[in-house]
Parts: sequence; structure tokens; C-alpha cells
Amino acid sequence: MGILGKEKIGKTVGVYAHIPYCVSKCPYCDFKSVVSKELPEKRYAGCVLTELSSVLRKEGGELASRPLESLYIGGGTPSLFSPQTIDLLVRSVRSSFAPFKDTEITLEVNPDTADPERLRGYAGAGVNRLSIGFQSLIDSELRALGRTHSADKALRSFAAARSAGFTNIGVDLIYGAPGQSVESFTDSLQKVIDLRPEHISLYNLTLEEGTPFHRSYVTEKDPASVPLPPEEDELRMYWKATDLLGGAGYGHYEISNWALPGLRSVHNSRYWTGADYIGLGSSAHSYLSAPGWGRRWWNESGPLQYMRRIDEGGEAMTASETLTREEAMTEALLLGLRMLDKGIEGTRFKARFGLYPKEAFREWAALEREGHLVSRGEDLLLTPGGVLVSNEVFLRLRG
Ligand code: SF4
Repeated sequence: MGILGKEKIGKTVGVYAHIPYCVSKCPYCDFKSVVSKELPEKRYAGCVLTELSSVLRKEGGELASRPLESLYIGGGTPSLFSPQTIDLLVRSVRSSFAPFKDTEITLEVNPDTADPERLRGYAGAGVNRLSIGFQSLIDSELRALGRTHSADKALRSFAAARSAGFTNIGVDLIYGAPGQSVESFTDSLQKVIDLRPEHISLYNLTLEEGTPFHRSYVTEKDPASVPLPPEEDELRMYWKATDLLGGAGYGHYEISNWALPGLRSVHNSRYWTGADYIGLGSSAHSYLSAPGWGRRWWNESGPLQYMRRIDEGGEAMTASETLTREEAMTEALLLGLRMLDKGIEGTRFKARFGLYPKEAFREWAALEREGHLVSRGEDLLLTPGGVLVSNEVFLRLRG
């Protein structure tokens, strides 16, 4: 089979591979990651590939006949894995699907593990996009977040990525971090903009249950130990970011994501547009939009249990659900609202559900009058102010 380009393809697939290991656990993090003295790199990668084979066997040949539009290797800290292991994963996943010349292959990178030689190795393995977790460029904020890298190390990792040949790099920052001020956040963001990464993600720090931050701040009622900025400052950070990034040519295409023209995250856009993806590894989730109204399943979350189950039977799924029409519509609403420049697309929605979003979500008119939503033909989009109350908008639309 020849190699297909984007213009010629039909249904595609995306693959997410979860690497659950970290050097230490950040006190705000509720991602499924573990700190392990030993890194069972080879065994874990082998399990991921065994799992892929059994998913493809189970789903029949149709899935494997599709072009792979994106592969996202996330975590945890996937850059703890050697370029050789990443090379094995990339080659094996790619060769399990129909050839596709434009596959976006992203690797999440922690600045601490991003030395020039390693990054050149990842580029050689076929990784063509990096997502680097800076979080802040102020050392005291990085320490408060429990990060093991310094601001200088983050900047050096970016330079090393460029010199390794990466032309598509995303940088993540956090706002609302302990000890952060509007000025210090602006300083970090401006330094990031000056680097001209292709993509910038801004995440608002939230206190997730089960994390040390939540324990100190909420359970032990000791807010001084996690000195969060006041809510009005977080709002000012958000507006400041919108201004600075817009002025620098970054399009705000999703609630937390900005990109230079043509450089959105292909993989994450699949999630937000309800496209099919297979998740491999511990705690990974998968979603197929057909048959019916769609199906999702998710894996064993502990890495050791995951590997044990794969070794025993090739599968690690712990639960699955088949969506009803109602659930699929709610999902299309939730995801559509996140896509700030597309919104809930009327024509697509009607093609799937047989009615327009305005017919399905009657509260839209009141929300438009209040300035939270805007209708563009049959599409419904959040306004910039609506982004800040998006949960309320969602709940009212769902009715
Ligand atoms: S490095 Fe990332 S995944 Fe690991 S503990 Fe910190 S925030 Fe969580």
C-alpha cells in the first residue's frame, strides 16, 4: 500500500500510550503515575505492544486498516524511557496500522530528562512533536510545585530540543500556583512567548482530592502551607494570558490551549472532536464512536497489576461502557464547548443526532442574552467571558 497523505484519507485512528513512572511525585498531581526505584522499561513497553496486538485482534481488521493520525506518548514522565524503547514503541505502533505520512508523534518531556543526546535519540526514533512541562519559569514557584527542575534547566531543555531538530514544540505552564502573582506569571509567560514554541498550554492549578496540596489546604485546614493566589488574581492571569498570546499570534482554540496557525495538537483535537482513539498502558482510556452511540473502556490503573494482567492474558481492561444517545449528545456538548473557535458544530451535530444543537439545548438563547454563549448560524460557541463560567453553561444547557 502507498503512503497516504491527509487529503486522501477516510476514517483514521489515534493511539495514546501511557508511561506511568516519575522521578518523584509532585504535591498537586493526581495523574496516574508512580515513583518506582526500578524502571521496568523493557517489560512495560513489551506489555503495551502485547496489549495493542490483542486490541487489534479483538476489534477485527477494520481498525488496523485505518491510517494512524496521531500517537501520543504521555505520562507520568515518558522521557524517563530511553530513545531505544521509544523507537521500539513508535515503530511497532506505526506498523500496526495503515501507512500515513503525516502521523503526529508526540512525546511528553520533563526538562530534567531532556539532555541533547537523548532528544536527538527521540528525533531519530520518529518523534516529531515534544510537549515540555515547564510549569513556571520562577525557581521559587517550581520548588513550591515540587518540581525537580529549575527555570534555567527548562530554558536549556527547549534550546536542546530546537537543536535536536524539533520544529513542533508545546510548552505547558501552570497559573494559580502557590506564591504566584500576576506579575510573576506574566514574566514566565512572556519568556515562553519569546521562545516562540508552536503550542502553549495553560493549566489552572486545582486542588485534587488525594493530593498532598488538598490534604494540607482542605483536610488539615492549613491554607498558609499552600499560599494560593486569590481568585481575582487567577482571573487577571487568565485575561493577561489571553491578551499576550492573542497579540503574539497564538490562536486560542481550546479552553487551555493556544497554537500558532496550523499547529494545534492533532492528537488532543481528536479527543475534543469525538474521534476514535485507543489507549494503551496502565490507566489508559479508549473510545470508539461506533457501533451505536459509541463505546469506551479503561485499563487497570496500577502499573504492576497492569503488567501482570497483560502477561497472564494479553488484556488489562477493568471496565467498559456503551453510550446511549443521550450520553453521546452530552459528550458532544461538553467537548464542543471546549473548542473555542469551532464550538458545537451544527451540521456535524445534526448529521449524528438528527437535530441541531439549538433544538437539543433550549437554554442556549438565555445564555446568549447573558453573554456567555454566541450562536454562529447553527453553531454554538462560548464567549471569552463564558469560558470562565463554562461549567455553569454546560449544566444549564444539559438541563
Ligand atoms: S512529573 Fe507530571 S505526572 Fe509526574 S508527578 Fe509531577 S505532575 Fe505528576
